[in-house]
Amino acid sequence: MSKSNGRTCGSCTACSRLPEVGKKPHGQNGGFACAWLKGFGDEADRPNKSKVIVSFVDNTLPGGVLRIWGMCRRALSGEFARETILWAVSNGVWVSQFRLRNDTRGKLLVPRGRIATKEVLAVAEKNNLEIGDG
Ligand code: SF4
Repeated sequence: MSKSNGRTCGSCTACSRLPEVGKKPHGQNGGFACAWLKGFGDEADRPNKSKVIVSFVDNTLPGGVLRIWGMCRRALSGEFARETILWAVSNGVWVSQFRLRNDTRGKLLVPRGRIATKEVLAVAEKNNLEIGDG
């Protein structure tokens, strides 16, 4: 995955569809900034083109959590999404994934070398996630 700086949202408004972002400020206006805006992925991976939004790791679980949303039915089956998920689970990073059009609940993917303990299951439940296999 390549990284570069100086990106702007341009015509992308994808994250305004995320329930946690909605009408709040995002992108260059502060608030939510997706991983692409921070330099993750290639130009073609911008969320309004790839239909995939990635948010960098947070620390709600040991090793961190990478959050990924598919904006259309097949978005998470695309190369960018699959490579990103594979990178995370291969490096001990949990993945929470949502398909925005279809899922009422998301999935929490268990990374290599980690176990879904009772504490993990509690975090998953709190965040409306079920343990999944991708
Ligand atoms: S998804 Fe990323 S690039 Fe698109 S508007 Fe939100 S912060 Fe900007």
